[in-house]
Amino acid sequence: MKAVVYNGPKNVSVETVDDPKIEKPTDVIIRVTTTNICGSDLHMYDGRTSFEKGRVFGHENLGEVIEVGAAVDQIKTGDRVCMPFNVGCGFCENCERGLTAFCLTTNPGTAGAAYGFAEMGPWQGGQAELLRVPYADFNCLRLPEDAEEKEDDYVMLSDIFPTGWHGVELSGFLPGESIAIYGAGPVGLMAAHSAEIRGASQIFVVDSHDDRLKLAEAMGAIPIDMRKGDPAQQILDATGGLGTDRGVEAVGYQCCDRHGKERSNYTMNCLVKSTKATGGIGVVGVFVPEDPNAPDDLQKEGKIAFDFGNFWFKGQKIGTGQCNVKHYNRRLMSLIEHGRANPAQIISHRLPLDQAPDAYKHFDERDDGWTKVLLKPGA
Ligand code: NAD
Ligand code: ZN
Repeated sequence: MKAVVYNGPKNVSVETVDDPKIEKPTDVIIRVTTTNICGSDLHMYDGRTSFEKGRVFGHENLGEVIEVGAAVDQIKTGDRVCMPFNVGCGFCENCERGLTAFCLTTNPGTAGAAYGFAEMGPWQGGQAELLRVPYADFNCLRLPEDAEEKEDDYVMLSDIFPTGWHGVELSGFLPGESIAIYGAGPVGLMAAHSAEIRGASQIFVVDSHDDRLKLAEAMGAIPIDMRKGDPAQQILDATGGLGTDRGVEAVGYQCCDRHGKERSNYTMNCLVKSTKATGGIGVVGVFVPEDPNAPDDLQKEGKIAFDFGNFWFKGQKIGTGQCNVKHYNRRLMSLIEHGRANPAQIISHRLPLDQAPDAYKHFDERDDGWTKVLLKPGA
């Protein structure tokens, strides 16, 4: 089959690799019809992780079941399914509590597993024609009747819609409160969409890219252009000096640095400044842990200092971590099915798999108009 393969920093190609096979009776094989490029792929694409050469990318996957293992009971051939990016087992202590981002079975020794991801287990990604899904009864979300018609909305259930929702949730948000979201990438935009659906009184979205800020504005948010000065101060000025009830970090490590601006602690310091005293901060941007296999200068990247003094003095709270996608999946699927959510509104490109190398380049550079790229392996 054809798949998007990592060859080294800023170098991917579409290669022929072995087809995945049923390895355990609880597996299924999916014919992938949509698979997205994510900001999380860029941590690997840019060479900031120990992602091995030859591995296949892709953790935002949707497709049709074409083969089922002997022990798969609920999922059938022909089902159209979306896979949470987390690979869970369903029976470990954490999965039992809904904490599927921290499955103890699928990536033993560390926390959590995902398809096509560094440090998150051996699972091959789905930017390919086929994908093997383990513990398939648990890891496949069967989609409603309108699965094909709304495929580009439903594929967002694999990651960014629940992740944006999770950022809002981690901040402790309540309906009627105000919220500031740092980062208008796909995750930040989905946090804004979630806050809108959940009844926020005011939503601020911070970024430095016009196309992304325009999308935020179209969703009902107030755009904050960080090129015009300290974004936290702009939010304080717009809220009578008080700041917002809640804040979300949807940027992650090195993003600022990569674009010649501040270090990775910049957004955290802004959040402490622009969030009200006793308010809450949800951090879904990825801060990768120390990795002894990564290049020397990157090993410490996860260790950032931020303004803990003001954070403490303001009595703020913080929530962090990968999203437990499955925890939100069915409810967010219902919002899409009944027309209350349309995450596909942020999509900028739908491309055949062959165009992945070019798409990675543009998305990595945040070229104007490249907001969210969907790859269509069958096209
Ligand atoms: P992205 O890289 O496309 O978006 C990041 C955005 O942040 C860009 O628009 C960029 O211009 C903006 N930005 C950079 N520096 C900024 C600053 N100082 N202030 C405000 N904005 C700034 O990526 P994405 O797909 O939106 O993902 C965002 C982050 O979320 C990444 O770190 C990704 O790994 C992470 N993520 C986490 C989870 C999870 O489960 N927690 C899931 C998916 C993605
Ligand atoms: Zn993702």
